[in-house]
Amino acid sequence: MKFRDLQRQYQNLKGEIDSAILNVLKESNYISGIQVRELEESLKEYVGVKHCITCANGTDALVLALMALGVGKGDAVFVPDFTFFASGEAPASLGAKVVFVDIDENTYNIDPDSLEKAIIRVREDSLLTPKVVVSVDLFGQPADYTRIVPICKKYGLYLLEDGAQGMGGSIAGKRSCSFGNIGTTSFFPAKPLGCYGDGGAIFTDNDEWAELIRSLAVHGKDGNDKYNNIRIGMNSRLDTIQAAILKVKLKAFMEYELDDIICTAEKYNNSLCGYGLSLPILKDGYVSSWAQYTVKMSKGIGRDWLQKRLLSKGIPTMVYYSKPMHSQEAFKTQGYTFGTHAEDLCQRVLSIPIYPYMTDAEIDFVVKELILAIEDMG
Ligand SMILES: *Cc1c(COP(=O)(O)O)cnc(C)c1O
Repeated sequence: MKFRDLQRQYQNLKGEIDSAILNVLKESNYISGIQVRELEESLKEYVGVKHCITCANGTDALVLALMALGVGKGDAVFVPDFTFFASGEAPASLGAKVVFVDIDENTYNIDPDSLEKAIIRVREDSLLTPKVVVSVDLFGQPADYTRIVPICKKYGLYLLEDGAQGMGGSIAGKRSCSFGNIGTTSFFPAKPLGCYGDGGAIFTDNDEWAELIRSLAVHGKDGNDKYNNIRIGMNSRLDTIQAAILKVKLKAFMEYELDDIICTAEKYNNSLCGYGLSLPILKDGYVSSWAQYTVKMSKGIGRDWLQKRLLSKGIPTMVYYSKPMHSQEAFKTQGYTFGTHAEDLCQRVLSIPIYPYMTDAEIDFVVKELILAIEDMG
């Protein structure tokens, strides 16, 4: 069994994907082919925003968004202490100070109360200007936007939604990547909507930022003239082959893959409760796209043993994440940390296989082996 079986997905979509790739080869429009704009149109409609700009990966998407918001030296950017490194790396790469914020014990997303406290502390300090909150839709569940959006408004901060793991998630029908002033996602192969290499996208309703980001992503070009450069930007584009692949995959994602993975998560929820594991908790009205199905063990001890035992049965597992952001060597010199829960969580989390096209027999097998292992641990 694979942790996330991309081969199985390819086999299911092979006919359409092969012909989409061959088409690009025939047209030989490898950069900025028509498929890129077509994909952007479908994505913005799906997410429910005015603009979608694709780019080279989810990290660039964050950097481009932060550049458009004017983030730099002297700014404080608030980031959850429990996330993938890039959420903090992007603002730090622009010279901003990253302030790590504690997470909610149930959802593992940024905790609104801790966020507000952190903003107040930084404001009092007066050395830094609180500028942006980077909220992360961790493991597929949207962050608590009902509370985060008003906090950002109250203190005059921009909200950047890092939806790299969130594509397909929603709150009361409103989709991930549409909650911030700007939203970003990643098409890394293992994300809920992945391509066959690196890819990313930026979403916003703001016309000016959209135009600015299109310019920044292509060497600071002036309008459509990439040989007239009016600002310092970068080279960050989604190539045509990836766009063609994503068009096929987005259709499957919208039609049945997302429903399929939600179904698998529900089966796990029903079969794994009552064995001393904390199962994922969704807030009321929230839909997760299940980038990960992550259980929390009652104690950290035994996790290595459990992973080895499951692997010996052919079931791979992963630890997302083994370190809080503030403990990463690269962030040693960041001044502020408001994390506490992340420390403990990193010792206890374990992500188990989940992906569309997982069969009932496979789900049952994971459940059976996981329960047997937990019972053997005593
Ligand atoms: C994967 C991921 C990113 C970065 O995306 P890449 O496409 O790998 O650059 C950023 N933030 C989060 C939360 C992620 O999971």
